[in-house]
Amino acid sequence: MSTAPVNPASVSSSTSASDAETLRRGRILSSKLYFDVPLTKVPIIYSSSYDIAFLGMEKLHPFDSSKWGRICRFLILDGALEKNHIVEPLEASKDDLLVVHSESYLNSLKTSLNVAVIIEVPPVALLPNCLVQQKVLYPFRKQVGGTILAAKLAKERGWAINVGGGFHHCSAGKGGGFCAYADISLCIHYAFIRLNISRVMIIDLDAHQGNGHELDFSNDRRVYILDMYNPGIYPSDFEARRYIDQKVEVVSGTTTNEYLTKLDEALKVAGRMFDPELVVYNAGTDILDGDPLGRLKISPEGVTSRDEKVFRFAREKKIPLIMLTSGGYMKSSAKVIADSIVNLSRKCLIDTGSSHSRG
Ligand SMILES: [Zn+2]
Repeated sequence: MSTAPVNPASVSSSTSASDAETLRRGRILSSKLYFDVPLTKVPIIYSSSYDIAFLGMEKLHPFDSSKWGRICRFLILDGALEKNHIVEPLEASKDDLLVVHSESYLNSLKTSLNVAVIIEVPPVALLPNCLVQQKVLYPFRKQVGGTILAAKLAKERGWAINVGGGFHHCSAGKGGGFCAYADISLCIHYAFIRLNISRVMIIDLDAHQGNGHELDFSNDRRVYILDMYNPGIYPSDFEARRYIDQKVEVVSGTTTNEYLTKLDEALKVAGRMFDPELVVYNAGTDILDGDPLGRLKISPEGVTSRDEKVFRFAREKKIPLIMLTSGGYMKSSAKVIADSIVNLSRKCLIDTGSSHSRG
């Protein structure tokens, strides 16, 4: 192994695996994303720059691209959260992103056409890249910073919610399905090094298969993946399916009771098979009845019980848990997510410092 200082600019395809690991470690240790959060703050992470809205482009997309801000506004209106208790993350820098992504993948995002394909908004291809960086990729990089910080906060407080993130279709070398950066893979690599953790469980309950993290941790025994998804919709990634430790397929039209019964069973199996030190919960709400992409029929109350089950699973085992909001961009999604967070607080599974959790 080389003992010379590693210069990122000189890295070539001939870099050995151990040099790459040394470089990754160096980047993680020098990152600014893990900053100390005062105890006056609640481990709910959000920045107003998460929300994507510009030139009316957001109206061309079937997504509610300001759901993240709306979730927080509902929580504040409900009295569940005080605005100045929210944690604002830093933007993931290029060096942070290089922990998982290749230089060539990051360079590909400098072409607006590539970003347009990833986020599925064709007119974005026509915009100058500086605008795409500022209005689309910067919000995503803030959300990535939030997911990475969430693991540190969860280790300290037992739980953390990033009101964003969960870009589970993006892997080290490829974006897609509205996911430009692999925040889950990044978060886990940071946790390995900075939190001295060696066993992570991903519970991916978004309606879509989480092919990004599955490809990234394909042969990594430190990560156990429970993925419950509709096999009849995007991304139909059969290679990535081989890397799921516990695959639970829920076909189009699956209703609330059937879904929750399958989840109970899946959590029992996961608890027997693996003893994690961190749970990464990808809590997409595209399982909701009426979601045009997810095609499942889960009620809003079903989403609340789903989230409660996962939080109880982690709480009973005393495992730190991070929740990411992931997919689900119907107008109703933000309220459903906020209601579920309020329920977690009422059930004392989280403490948001509000009257709900004190009462
Ligand atoms: Zn999804």
